Amino acid sequence: MVDRGVISATGTALEEASIEKLQDSLRGEMLRPGDNGYDEARMVWNRMVDKHPSMIIRCVGVADVIHAVNFARTHDLLVAVRGGGHNVAGKAVCDEGMVIDLSKMKGIRVDPTQHTAQAQAGLLNAECDREAQAFGLATTMGVVSDTGIAGLTLGGGYGWLAGKYGMTCDNLLSADVVTADGRFLTASVSENEDLFWGLRGGGGNFGVVTSFEYRLHPVDQVLGGMILYPMEKAKDVLRFYHEFSISAPDELSTMAFLATAPSGDPAVIIVLCYCGSSDEGEKVVKPVRTLGKPLADLIQVMSYGDLQKMLDPLLPTGHCYYWKASIIRELSDEAIETLLAHALPLPTPMSGVGFQQLHGVASRVGQDETAYPHRYDHYEFFPIVVSEDRGEVEKNIHWARELWEAMQPFTTGAVYVNDLGDEGEARVKEAYGSIYPRLVEVKNKYDPTNLFRLNQNVKPKM
Ligand SMILES: Cc1cc2nc3c(=O)[nH]c(=O)nc-3n(C[C@H](O)[C@H](O)[C@H](O)COP(=O)(O)OP(=O)(O)OC[C@H]3O[C@@H](n4cnc5c(N)ncnc54)[C@H](O)[C@@H]3O)c2cc1C
Repeated sequence: MVDRGVISATGTALEEASIEKLQDSLRGEMLRPGDNGYDEARMVWNRMVDKHPSMIIRCVGVADVIHAVNFARTHDLLVAVRGGGHNVAGKAVCDEGMVIDLSKMKGIRVDPTQHTAQAQAGLLNAECDREAQAFGLATTMGVVSDTGIAGLTLGGGYGWLAGKYGMTCDNLLSADVVTADGRFLTASVSENEDLFWGLRGGGGNFGVVTSFEYRLHPVDQVLGGMILYPMEKAKDVLRFYHEFSISAPDELSTMAFLATAPSGDPAVIIVLCYCGSSDEGEKVVKPVRTLGKPLADLIQVMSYGDLQKMLDPLLPTGHCYYWKASIIRELSDEAIETLLAHALPLPTPMSGVGFQQLHGVASRVGQDETAYPHRYDHYEFFPIVVSEDRGEVEKNIHWARELWEAMQPFTTGAVYVNDLGDEGEARVKEAYGSIYPRLVEVKNKYDPTNLFRLNQNVKPKM
């Protein structure tokens, strides 16, 4: 017999009648253990996460979100909020409590004249890009297409357009939010400004965002793709990569990976996107292509939408993952030597080490202008263990930890909040640095009882 009981965070069993009343109030679906679709709905991108919520509220509109928040607060339920379900830490689901699942809220309206988009919180990067691209427009979204726009925007948002147009959160014009007391607020530079500040980097701490309004930019064809060099050349290629990327114009954003090529050969890979004119781009990227004899050169003019899907096969939904990240400002010779000494051989064929660059417009925003504080040129460094087999990931977690540890002397000690696993309060503070007290002030105002705590939690002062 499946246990369909619902228990509050303080251990009280809820009456079936009150659950049925909530169900009747919804336009969307409520899924409970044993229901068709429940097991699929509780899965997230990272299959290391295997949580069993008591109820999943599949919201289809703001009213459902308000009902769910009010019910969870009144009955003291543990609450998880799910956008795209892509976060590595798996906090979009929980054991026992309620999941407020926005994945069915996929409405989007692009205004091709004003260059804006109003996008509901269940959209994935690819879905948002697709609608904007129909008008030759885009805003910065992440580099894997099935990541949710909600978690990505709320944490900051690195992506191929960040050098030219800023992070995703820098392109946020307003957001609609259901706060812990069930109110529906709009936050922007002129309305609920403190909340708007907190939403641009502070994650899911302040309420459930139902919709985001973005600024869009003309983006059509880009020069992008990847070039693979043999791993034996990794030292030279990474040295080159550092010099090349630190002097990159705003139009060019880059990543580098140590990974295994489809041929099975270990490889050092540079991935890039140049979003200006392709003639100029060809000149800018020429040094990457003439560096030596590549295993493969897949850099070409392509649609921005295609580029956005290019890395999908490397990190597919439904595999098991572990990663640990840190911010590095400089890939010095010593850092590269330490990296190669600890990273190789890679523990599984899908495992690797990534460096995601942030620079240009994104790093020229003021440090406390938004709640994403790392406004300087850097790379987000992340060793990642990947396998279809949970046991194989567990067996190799030490590889990622030891590599991460060895690289600490070369990092700033900070980390991008969206790349944190379940790493505790001290690491959340490291992710926010000196802006943390201001986040606490916003938390005190909008969620003083910490209803929204299944996230990289900013604790209110009780
Ligand atoms: C393969 C992969 C590639 C990635 N690439 C990038 C990248 O290029 N750039 C980048 O910046 N990041 C990237 N990330 C990190 C990504 O930004 C985070 O994982 C982000 O949290 C994903 O958002 P989501 O909505 O899919 O996540 P979810 O797991 O659904 O949510 C994560 C957390 O966000 C909060 N949340 C989600 N939706 C809402 C909402 N509507 N209202 C309030 N809170 C909400 C909740 O606290 C939730 O626990 C990547 C992650 C993965 C796994």
